[in-house]
Amino acid sequence: MERAVTSQPGMKSKIRRVDAYLVDLMPERPRTDAIQSFVKQETIFVEVENDEGAVGVGYAYTIGTGGRAVLAHLRHDLLGLLTGEDANQIEAVWQKLFWSTHGTVVGAITSLALAAIDTALWDLRCKSLGQPLWRLAGGAKREVPLYDTEGGWLQLSTEELVEGAIAAKRQGWPGVKVKVGKPRPGEDFERLSAVREAVGADLDIMVDANQSMTYAEAKRRAQLFEPLQLFWFEEPLPAEDMSGHARLAASTSIPIAVGESIYSPSHFREYLAAGAASILQPDVARLGGITPWLKVAHLAETFNVKVAPHFLMELHVSLAAAVPNALYVEHIPQLRSITRESLQISNGVAVAPDTPGIGIDWDFEKIDHLKVE
Ligand SMILES: [Mg+2]
Repeated sequence: MERAVTSQPGMKSKIRRVDAYLVDLMPERPRTDAIQSFVKQETIFVEVENDEGAVGVGYAYTIGTGGRAVLAHLRHDLLGLLTGEDANQIEAVWQKLFWSTHGTVVGAITSLALAAIDTALWDLRCKSLGQPLWRLAGGAKREVPLYDTEGGWLQLSTEELVEGAIAAKRQGWPGVKVKVGKPRPGEDFERLSAVREAVGADLDIMVDANQSMTYAEAKRRAQLFEPLQLFWFEEPLPAEDMSGHARLAASTSIPIAVGESIYSPSHFREYLAAGAASILQPDVARLGGITPWLKVAHLAETFNVKVAPHFLMELHVSLAAAVPNALYVEHIPQLRSITRESLQISNGVAVAPDTPGIGIDWDFEKIDHLKVE
């Protein structure tokens, strides 16, 4: 154990200081999909310190816009409500904040703000108890498989996709994601066929349309893709179009994966109840933090559905390890420039960090250097 337990069971952990700031991180490589480019990662940090001097650090992110709005929401509306609260009553604090800003929920800006606070509280809780997140949040298993997304962006040529997939297979990744949504369906098909032909049958290939299609277009492409043995078809339609997802799921044998654009556990329940999603991809930042993320994972379990969280592998690996129904974590490294130690990965399998806290070894010198607000 790295550090001594600082809290006694049953003791209050009174919040005495909170802070929020923003760090801009450039993507490690160009990332384009059918609807957008990953311009920069606006990383919104929250620090929560208790009356014993222990500090929890949490964060949320955007892919280029809105980060300053999240920061302003935190500073203007939310952080002031934390002082004096018991940091161990995470659910009570989350509910207090949620209801305090009820005119702006459920919404992306508020969910991201809540997530930055909630992950800071979990970090503080884990550190206070001397436990890693993966164990404190459930402790289902230590290791989680990853699939690689970095070789499958939409701007890449077919040759580059094929090279990326072959390299990924050689490096031991069990799966790769390829973006779809080219103007002509045949172009998507040719690109995917080339990848499948190059890697053979024993590599999972996920495809992701990033909400770019109509139901009719997604149905046509799903039929076209059927012979390619795809692992899942991700975000074929806008997240609002739940009935479209339900019809699509009924019309194809390819599992439909959704979740990165869903901001509330209740919306996940609607998807599950409608049979509109075969795999859930909850994003801890967009959902409002670890507290709601765990609810979604457990909810999925009751429907016999697996979760494969979206992005944020540095945090999601511990959450996926915490629950029994995690399928995959997505490999997109994005924190290497502000952390001292990278996620431990070998042969496509990540090991959840065993240090007390949420498992991210921040380099605060570099973070200070990159602070923009
Ligand atoms: Mg996606």
